[in-house]
Amino acid sequence: MKWFESVARKLLERKGLQVIETGTSISGIPHIGNASDVIRGDAIRKALLEREADVDFIWVADDSDPFRKIPKGMAGLREYLGFPVKDIPDPEGCHGGFVDHYVEEFLSDLEEFGVEPRPYSATELYMCNAFHEEIETVLDRSGEIIEILNRFREDPLPEDTIFWSPVCENCGRIASTKPTDIDGLRVSYVCQDTEISGGRVKGCGFQGESDIREGKGKLPWRIEWAVRWKHFRVTCEPLGKEHASAGGSFWTSRIISKEILGWEPPLPVIYEFFTLNGEKISSSKGNVITLGDWLRICEPEVLKYFMYKRLNKQRDIKLSSIPSLVDEYDRAERIFFGMEDGDTKEGRMYEFSQIKKPEKLQVPYTLCAVLSQVVSDLNPDEITKRLERQGYVDYSRERLMKRIKLAGEWSRRYGPGCLKFRLIDEEKAEEVKKQLTADERMVLRGIADELDKDLNAEELHKRIYEISRENGVKPSMVFRALYNVLIGKNRGPKAALFILSLDTSFVRNRFK
Ligand SMILES: [Zn+2]
Ligand SMILES: [Zn+2]
Repeated sequence: MKWFESVARKLLERKGLQVIETGTSISGIPHIGNASDVIRGDAIRKALLEREADVDFIWVADDSDPFRKIPKGMAGLREYLGFPVKDIPDPEGCHGGFVDHYVEEFLSDLEEFGVEPRPYSATELYMCNAFHEEIETVLDRSGEIIEILNRFREDPLPEDTIFWSPVCENCGRIASTKPTDIDGLRVSYVCQDTEISGGRVKGCGFQGESDIREGKGKLPWRIEWAVRWKHFRVTCEPLGKEHASAGGSFWTSRIISKEILGWEPPLPVIYEFFTLNGEKISSSKGNVITLGDWLRICEPEVLKYFMYKRLNKQRDIKLSSIPSLVDEYDRAERIFFGMEDGDTKEGRMYEFSQIKKPEKLQVPYTLCAVLSQVVSDLNPDEITKRLERQGYVDYSRERLMKRIKLAGEWSRRYGPGCLKFRLIDEEKAEEVKKQLTADERMVLRGIADELDKDLNAEELHKRIYEISRENGVKPSMVFRALYNVLIGKNRGPKAALFILSLDTSFVRNRFK
């Protein structure tokens, strides 16, 4: 069984509605790492549905958190450090605010991945006083909660800790307010200087009162999480390893949920995080890839497949290696369609990554990257004709055309030099010709003669070597000549495959 199937089986030991909660911090640009939480939650949802369970799948935008770090390239937002993220303006000016802009983008991109959780905003939940029952319990039993939290802390919390972070009525910041007293549901506070990860936040000195029922503030994270579980009756929570380390928030929230709020805590599904090009994904450092970025270079199913692999292994998304990721996905596709023997789990992962009814493609991504650059206007008939020459006949044309566009975009942005090229014109080719030896020209003419023989890539590859030897030219020199004549470079895509992807009469004339 794949992990999502074992999770579903385990969940069903608990009776009633299954509620999978996912969530994303919006204090930076939501990226692929954030999406993995939701995309993996969706696999659990599907596995539960297969077992005919009632499932609710929710997503909460953590938009009442303080803005702690400035995303790279958004220095204009510096003055909003310490504000609830919900109150930061949209840096692009097209939405009501930063949160609206990125949440709308994130959710609509997720839809392209076939993932549609029911979305909530933490700010709106506080504003409509949705958690009033749970908050009353939290306040009534603050003493016990302090004791629970202290089990995990080196510096114990003072006995008079008040679990409410008010938004300052005067300056609008949330990071800088310090609660000083509580009377029923009214919390007095003072706004003072404070230090957060992104720098120092100045308090305005204001002293005010925050009525919890009005929702202008929030609970501390470890308590809020437990409150949400109780409120939404959450039974399953996928979470990143950082929350599940020893003393991590999950373990505290779990005790609060069970002992204070009386809700059996959700089953955790703990996953390792993703890195991007070998580095931590971070909006403040600018090392970010969003779902939207992915959709411009690769099929959504491939990323889902990648995310459905084992959870307890840290994975790197290396943008220059997208083709090998796609090759792996294509192999799972062959297993799914029974074209190749292999681990049935691969087939299941493939099946769970699908958004629509699965259709075969099996035209390598790298070949699509080449075709995208050599077929004028991406004419579908011409592409079909050239693929047929290489033995590709049975595939979904719609998927093919999509992959060609994506692979083309990928090679322009992230592809290696040998996959980025332009065919050179006659005039330039004339110049190249002058630099070739008589023997090299002889070999190219020889290759031109092979082009009418209906050879596949492997056969043509063999013939290039044979003709080189027959003429006493080193194959490496022949490849060099061949790429120079076609694209004016010393290197390029695999030669035989490349030649067969081009218009035959063009190559013939050029080589002759
Ligand atoms: Zn906008
Ligand atoms: Zn203030």
